[in-house]
Amino acid sequence: MNRQRPPSGIEWTRVSGRDGYTWNPTGGCLHGCTWKMPDGSVTECYAKTIAERFTSSYPHGFEHHYWRPHALEAPLKLKKPAGIFVGSMADLFGHWVPTEQIREVLDVMDRASWHIFQTLSKYPLRLPEFNSFPQNVWVGVSVPAGQQMPSRGAARALLAYLRHMEKIEATVRFMSIEPLWFDVVPVLEKWLTQHEELPFEWAIIGAATNGRRVFQPKEEWTANLVDLLDAQGIPLFFKGNLDWADWREDFPEIRKLPIHQVKGSFL
Ligand code: SF4
Repeated sequence: MNRQRPPSGIEWTRVSGRDGYTWNPTGGCLHGCTWKMPDGSVTECYAKTIAERFTSSYPHGFEHHYWRPHALEAPLKLKKPAGIFVGSMADLFGHWVPTEQIREVLDVMDRASWHIFQTLSKYPLRLPEFNSFPQNVWVGVSVPAGQQMPSRGAARALLAYLRHMEKIEATVRFMSIEPLWFDVVPVLEKWLTQHEELPFEWAIIGAATNGRRVFQPKEEWTANLVDLLDAQGIPLFFKGNLDWADWREDFPEIRKLPIHQVKGSFL
C-alpha cells in the first residue's frame, strides 16, 4: 500500500506496522462495551475515550448517533488502492443507524471498487439485511464484549453471532477476537459438531488493554484457538498487543460468491 495524503473525511493510520486508513461517515455508538480485566479493573471502549477527548466532533457525547454526509464521498477521492477501515468510532450496523444511511455508505464502498473496505460490528443480527455486500467489502463481527457478563453468557452470545454470520453474503467474513477475554474454542467446537465449517474466512486475535496495561489471554486459550483455526484452514492475523512467539499475519482467500449475489464492480 502506498502512503498518500488522504482527502478530508479520511484519516491515515498505522496498524501493526502497515499503512491504512479510517473513514467514519457515521460516529458514536450505543453498545456501551466494557470489559472486566483480570486485575478487577473495568475498561471501556477506546473510541469512547477518544470521543470524550475531542468533544467538538462529539458534542452530544459518544453514546449518540452522528451522521456525517460531508465525509460520505471521501473514499472516491482517494485515488490509489488502499485498505480502509470503516467506522473506527462507530458501529455502522448498530440497531440505531437508519437503514438508508447504511445503504448510502455501502453504495460509496461499491463505487470505490479499487479499495478494500473492512467493517466491524457487534450487531451481526442486522448484517444479512444488507446482502449481498460489494465484493471489496470485508464484513467483520467482534466477539461479544464483556459488559461484565459471565463468560457463559458471552459464549451463548457468540453462538448466536455465528448463526447470523452464516447468513452473510460477502467475499470475506471475518471474526475479530480482540480481546480474547474468554475461551471461545468450546463455542467454535460446538458449532463444528453441527456444521461442516466455521462461518468466517479470517480471524484476528488480540489481547485486552486498559490504557497502557495489556492483559494477555490465558496461554491455553490462544494455543487451542490457533490449533482449531489452523485445522479449519482459517488464516490468522495477530494484533500487535498479543504476546505470542509463532507470529501470524496472514490474510484470507477471497470467497467466490455466485454471480447473481455479486453487487460490486470487481468482476
Ligand atoms: S461496539 Fe465498538 S465502538 Fe461500540 S462501544 Fe463497543 S467497542 Fe466501542
